[in-house]
Amino acid sequence: MRPRRTIAPPHEAPPDSGVGARYHIETWGCQMNVHDSEKLAGALEQAGYRRADVADDADVILLNTCSIREKAAEKVFSELGRLHELKRGNPELLLVVAGCVAQQEGEEIFRRAPFVDAVIGPRATSSLIPTLARLRGGNPARLRALDIEYREDSIRFPFDLIRRESPESAKAYVTIIEGCNHRCTYCIVPTTRGREICRPLEEVLAEVRALAASGVLEVEFLGQTVNAYRDASGHTLGDLLRRTAEIDGIRRIRFTTSHPAQMTDKLVQAMADARPMLCPYLHLPAQSGSSAVLERMRRGYDRRGYLARIEALRARIPEMLFGTDLIVGFPGETEQDFAATLDLLDEVPFDTVYSFAYSERPGTRALDFGDTVPLPAKLERLARLQSRQRAIQEQRNRRFLGRTVEVLVEGKSKRDPSRWTGRTADNRIVHFGADTAAGRLEQVRVAQTTPYFLYGAPVAT
Ligand code: SAM
Ligand code: SF4
Repeated sequence: MRPRRTIAPPHEAPPDSGVGARYHIETWGCQMNVHDSEKLAGALEQAGYRRADVADDADVILLNTCSIREKAAEKVFSELGRLHELKRGNPELLLVVAGCVAQQEGEEIFRRAPFVDAVIGPRATSSLIPTLARLRGGNPARLRALDIEYREDSIRFPFDLIRRESPESAKAYVTIIEGCNHRCTYCIVPTTRGREICRPLEEVLAEVRALAASGVLEVEFLGQTVNAYRDASGHTLGDLLRRTAEIDGIRRIRFTTSHPAQMTDKLVQAMADARPMLCPYLHLPAQSGSSAVLERMRRGYDRRGYLARIEALRARIPEMLFGTDLIVGFPGETEQDFAATLDLLDEVPFDTVYSFAYSERPGTRALDFGDTVPLPAKLERLARLQSRQRAIQEQRNRRFLGRTVEVLVEGKSKRDPSRWTGRTADNRIVHFGADTAAGRLEQVRVAQTTPYFLYGAPVAT
């Protein structure tokens, strides 16, 4: 068989290059990937592609991938194996790998999955449409495309083209910064997403105004280090929060993910100024409760520093609640270090915790430390941590029994379609039965609680 030729990314395509074709996107990972898929869908639809609800009906299948842990990356290859079957039945089908695995693995994807047609990194998505046009115009058995450039235009996607996953939900993500300038020793994001680039404040505000005019009540600003936001004119996240709080129609403002070392007093003051529109819930990843581990992680703060940030936030915004990310089993983590992490759960305490077993990532500095905590010990610590946090959340949610909370309805519950699901401003998930619709604000009286959810019924107004 003749080897396939890897073509360079073209820059332009006819405006209707996708007419007559259907696309399907599968998304892994964080909110940023979910929102990137909304932009990819927008670009595809602008070119004339139509959405296919299932992969079997698509002419182009795009995997928007995550590589934050090894398991996430491996899942992509097993899904590619499944899609290979589809391609055997339909050789014209185009398979595209996008997102962080595309960036991290590059050419290697063609070696492990030679039937893949294109690999496009998260900062190179502007070449998606021209690349597809060229592949569809050529012989798919002979051509394949690779584009893993870090381009600045990835952040300037025309916001009116974004195809929101659930437009009826009245909440929308808005990217303000991409990439990351930190160098946490365990993390692959600076490699896959490149260095920080920020959108101009006025452009972000124009997007928020357009969203508000279309009925959006809640915006969530996104970035890997969202509080590092500073545009070319020097505007900061604090400026953005104050200005957004003045926009008619916007009732809730959130932002994620914040880095504790960049949670300055000035930003905390701006957050207080943006209340009550700014939601009283902040995701502030601690990663560990042990100062020794934090130093090896190169996080730029120690345990005291982290707790001081929480206190500064509480001093200005007493109603503020917190969520966090924690890694267990980082190289060299002792039982004592882990006990310090467990203790952090009680000391803060958090309302949501995302906890992970440390996973070695290619090219990261932590590889030099070795993977010293055996997997069974990591998993045992993870289970202990999750069990402790579950008990804390059970207690914290129980306080809501009998209270009435305001819920922004997101849609039908996935588990029980007779119920609706939404969130409180402080990020609690509420399930309730009612005659309502996505996008409404409902007053719900809480009748039952679990560590993860509140259940109730709307109060008559
Ligand atoms: N930018 C955010 C921050 O600074 O906290 C987080 C970005 S990352 C997408 C989400 C979470 O994945 C991290 O907070 C961390 O807890 C976890 N994570 C990242 N690299 C990891 C690794 N190598 N092993 C296990 N968990 C990891
Ligand atoms: Fe990764 Fe650290 Fe950057 Fe977060 S701040 S994305 S954990 S390098």
